[in-house]
Amino acid sequence: MGSLAASRASGNPTRGSEKYGPGVKREGNANPAKGGRGRDWRPTIFAPSDAREAVKSDGTGMCTVLGGAACGVIGVVGAQRKRARAGVLESCSTGSMRNLFRKEPPYITVPGQARPASGPKQAGGDGLWVRCENERCRELLYVREFENNLKVCHKCQHHARLTARERLSQLVDDGSFVEHDADLSPADPLDFTAGDTSYERKLVEAASRTGEREAAIGGSATVDSLPVELVALDFAFMGASMGSVVGEKIARAADRAAKRRAPLITVSASGGARMQEGIFSLMQMAKTVTALGNVGAARTPHISILADPTLGGVTASYAGVGDVIIAEQGAVAGFAGPRVIEQITKQKLPPDAQRAAFLLEHGMVDTVVQRRELRPLLMRLLHLYAAVPQPAATRTR
Ligand SMILES: [Zn+2]
Repeated sequence: MGSLAASRASGNPTRGSEKYGPGVKREGNANPAKGGRGRDWRPTIFAPSDAREAVKSDGTGMCTVLGGAACGVIGVVGAQRKRARAGVLESCSTGSMRNLFRKEPPYITVPGQARPASGPKQAGGDGLWVRCENERCRELLYVREFENNLKVCHKCQHHARLTARERLSQLVDDGSFVEHDADLSPADPLDFTAGDTSYERKLVEAASRTGEREAAIGGSATVDSLPVELVALDFAFMGASMGSVVGEKIARAADRAAKRRAPLITVSASGGARMQEGIFSLMQMAKTVTALGNVGAARTPHISILADPTLGGVTASYAGVGDVIIAEQGAVAGFAGPRVIEQITKQKLPPDAQRAAFLLEHGMVDTVVQRRELRPLLMRLLHLYAAVPQPAATRTR
């Protein structure tokens, strides 16, 4: 319906085309004088060959895909139009007709196995060099120097993604981390299968690829000798989506932090909720935020670190309610991704919208730091909070 309205507004009613045959709609404004693209338009709904096939399929030029004026894709003519109901697709006479409305996604999907577990790809077979992931840089980096620089490109300052264990090792005192809840494994409550891949199989693949049971790693540690509770997410494990186990580990870490009156540090890098767990995944948003309420009641801080990328239900729950929210330089954070927002609002987002600097400018985060400044900043914050007098209940003990 929206596409029809758009075509009316631009003065191009939906109708047959001389070039591609009946049923092919012009996309947008074809008048260059009004800012359109002139005669070089291309149909984006389906291919020209499909359109011709559609006309031939019932021999009369009638479309069996219904929807009348709401169709907006094929000009519905003849008696069949009387049966049209807006927004309803009836069974088509041929499979090809049905396929007219199956839009291929405008991007390709890279199989999970083809992605590296984390960080840029190695360049050359000797394992000594990696190439910067930043498309505008692509600098060849010496691995040891790259790792000494905390996986930040020395030329363009691009921050490569880290595994959860790499992240923890950069933040806490050496040898101080004690992992908790390592035995928690995700279940498959919905017996979810999409296509020919089940959720269970995806979990097994992610586990074998990353060496982790789940996307979250939680535990106790010290930072500059001050006790903290931490949870870090590993984006390489199914995009660190927040399923039941991830939510449970965060909630348990919050409970431990409240009990010990130790600050809670969360490091988020996640695509959002885990779709394969349905409502169980969404409930983690409420669970984690409720657990953080106990942290606040215990008068101990929650420091939320947003790494690249932090999106969806994670931003909208525990990661967005930290007492201090720190974004790593260049990190993307928000609810929906930029492409989704542009598709829904049909507006172009400003350059670098949802990047850390933009979020700081608009008050969504408290500070933006480079990776090498993260631990010193945590140390300063933790010492500041440690200097705050404890509540009366604690002093009387
Ligand atoms: Zn670079």
